[in-house]
Amino acid sequence: MFIVMAASASEAEVNAVKAAILAEGLQPHDNRGAERVVIALVGEVGARRQTLMSRLSGLPGVESVTPISRPFKLTSREFQAEDTVIRVGGAVIGDGSLTVMAGPCSIESRAQLDEVADAVTACGATILRGGAFKPRTSPYSFQGLGVEGLRYLADAGRRTGLPVITEVMEPAQVDVVNRYADILQIGTRNMQNFSLLQAVGRIDRPVMLKRGYGATVEEWLMAAEYIVSSGNPNVILCERGIRTFETYTRNTLDISAVPLLHHLTHLPVIVDPSHATGKRWLVKPMALAGVAAGADGIMVEVHPRPEEALSDGEQSITLDSFRDLMSSLRAVHADVADLHRDPVLSTAALGVGGKH
Ligand code: PEP
Ligand code: MN
Repeated sequence: MFIVMAASASEAEVNAVKAAILAEGLQPHDNRGAERVVIALVGEVGARRQTLMSRLSGLPGVESVTPISRPFKLTSREFQAEDTVIRVGGAVIGDGSLTVMAGPCSIESRAQLDEVADAVTACGATILRGGAFKPRTSPYSFQGLGVEGLRYLADAGRRTGLPVITEVMEPAQVDVVNRYADILQIGTRNMQNFSLLQAVGRIDRPVMLKRGYGATVEEWLMAAEYIVSSGNPNVILCERGIRTFETYTRNTLDISAVPLLHHLTHLPVIVDPSHATGKRWLVKPMALAGVAAGADGIMVEVHPRPEEALSDGEQSITLDSFRDLMSSLRAVHADVADLHRDPVLSTAALGVGGKH
């Protein structure tokens, strides 16, 4: 449930509500809006719901107490109506601007990364990506350069001025990845690695949580809830395709997840057309579709010579294709910007609601 404090409520009244929640063995999380404080109460409430609601309603400074109907609480639009906007370095994610995360699947050498970094920066990418710890289906495939790759990535970020994002695969890696990266990425295979979610929930850098390839939207939001409830509110969701019966594409891009997520959650949404399709020539149309559907941006794999890539060459686009993609993306983004200005109001106006 969440407790809306009156605009005139004092700090002492807010603290008294939080103390009452803690005394029940539950967790208070406050959201300080421009006008008032809203406190979410999370934890197993069970049979206490009614008595607790009426007791909290009676405390000084409390305006209203409302149950949150969704299983995800802190990530829900019910708790926070305004979009979460994430600022990292010079990049802003979720404010209506177009975020473009671009770079190689794997960091293969300093020269390879620098070549891509310079090219994507010149084209207007806002965040540099590159994998150093690679989750590969086969143990015989290239596993990434590890910490050496992280160094190249951090250096390229400093040189180009772009914030950098890279994957962290296990809790024991969080410290070292946190030292080099500006945004930590949780890959599809780890979406429900709960100890990893809690570990990245304890750091103060943004986390991009990719959708598990077999996960429902609700399971995905519950995974995001692990990170936020552990103390880190800066979570970005990335739709990267799910596994279906279709075999022509590597995965099936769930474009409907984009407006659905904007309806259900205040967190920013990124579309990854590279892993979603597995095919270079499908990357552009799917990237454009993602932005047209209202995504806050895209993540795309770029390689100077995709045929020589040590991972995901088939879905990596060339530097020239990236330049072309950027200009088309800007055009689509400019066209749809107004349509997506207020997802809460627009989905309400369309009568979207019901169970989901
Ligand atoms: C990646 O971004 O390189 C990656 C491994 O993605 P995913 O976890 O979506 O497969
Ligand atoms: Mn990849």
